[in-house]
Amino acid sequence: MKYADYEKWTARATRWIKTYFATLPDQPVRAQTAPGDIAARLPVSPPEQAEPMERIFDDFERIVPDGLTHWQHPRFFAYFPANAAPASMIAEQLTNAIAAQAMLWQTSPAATEIELVMVDWLRQALGLPEGFKGVIQDSASSATLAAVLTMRERALGFSGNKTGLSGRERLRIYASAQVHSSIDKACWVAGIGQENLVKIDTDANFSMRPDALQAAIDADRTAGYTPAGLVLCTGGTAIGASDVLDPLLDIAKAENLYTHLDAAWAGSAMICPELRPIWQGAERCDSIVFNPHKWLGAQFDCSIQFLRDPSDQLRTMALRPSYLQTQGQDQVVNLNEWTVPLGRRFRALKLWFLLRAYGLDGLRTRIRNHIKWAGELAGRLSTHPDFTLVTDLRFSLFTFQHTPAGADADQATEQLLQRVNDDGRIYLTQTAHAGKFVIRFQVGQFDCTRDDVMLAYDVLTELAAGA
Ligand SMILES: *Cc1c(COP(=O)(O)O)cnc(C)c1O
Repeated sequence: MKYADYEKWTARATRWIKTYFATLPDQPVRAQTAPGDIAARLPVSPPEQAEPMERIFDDFERIVPDGLTHWQHPRFFAYFPANAAPASMIAEQLTNAIAAQAMLWQTSPAATEIELVMVDWLRQALGLPEGFKGVIQDSASSATLAAVLTMRERALGFSGNKTGLSGRERLRIYASAQVHSSIDKACWVAGIGQENLVKIDTDANFSMRPDALQAAIDADRTAGYTPAGLVLCTGGTAIGASDVLDPLLDIAKAENLYTHLDAAWAGSAMICPELRPIWQGAERCDSIVFNPHKWLGAQFDCSIQFLRDPSDQLRTMALRPSYLQTQGQDQVVNLNEWTVPLGRRFRALKLWFLLRAYGLDGLRTRIRNHIKWAGELAGRLSTHPDFTLVTDLRFSLFTFQHTPAGADADQATEQLLQRVNDDGRIYLTQTAHAGKFVIRFQVGQFDCTRDDVMLAYDVLTELAAGA
């Protein structure tokens, strides 16, 4: 395969993509293959000799589609969305071809400069004040790890990277039980340890209780531990819970804790001004992460970390061996110094295409529709005798159980979920909430319509009745 043949094969790829999207709504959303089915269709060893692209492409068409769960399917209501708006797909194709390593400004000035402008466009779009800077990371997990490392270094007077952690004071980080598992993992990887991630009780609305946070900090200080950071959430993964920020941030400031806000999913909704009261106080957080690669429509991967003042994170993360020094260019930003990985893709291009091709207004309309349709479905299910809402609509997410009279609700719900996903017209996933097995329902796929959401009502009631 030579560059000379590139047009021929991208034309074939484009034809495949066109058919893929045209037939997508007729496909089962979740892959219906059994474990090992796809691997069994591949040779066990790599080819010694070059193979023709024709055969490679044929095999792709023959083998791969069966094993796909269709994240761009309009009736994907599982997990959270991983939207790839067509305009962002085009930009990503260009990024693939350019294949720049955007680790330093000089390794592709356009990548760094467009990234800084896109971060600022999104800062404005989310209503954050001037002065917030930021960087595009591969995932919220990486952004959260960067924030937790910064909490660690700040609490250790920026000496942990040098001396290691053995024999050092015991650091403590606080979060509610509603935060994502990436917070736990960041604490593992940063050497904080699971036992030092203190999960604080929540109130009736699943927001962290300020009195419980203060009590935990006081107890830790008495025990000789060192409180280092507070992780808050807007739109938690399980049920969409949000912390009421201001009272918690008051405590964090008084206790000198570094603060990180995980809004990986719901951050996209903050482009709608009417939704912003829920994260009132966000502008006081030191670090905020949100994923345009979820609800907003930027192709995976694209996670924005905003920093109120990048200097603590830079002190934690910046490393300048001689081969990375950029002589005579001290005024430039080298974004690898903001993140754990050195290598960085040119991810800003897809944001530039996305924001221009749909406009903030077009993106807002989608998010508002998703929330409205999810609310409509929640309303209909809540009046059905065999269904019970477990948590109310938060953004575009609610949870429910299948509760036919006389049946065990957890069991009935789990069985219904399995029937729904074997049926394939829609795709849903579960979570555990308050000891119950519940089905999550979120609306967020870029091109989904009201009809798609209402079809979910028909599928659920039909399959529940046939049980
Ligand atoms: C999806 C999600 C994450 C993890 O995001 P990645 O980008 O996959 O690391 C973290 N927090 C919340 C609230 C999420 O919804």
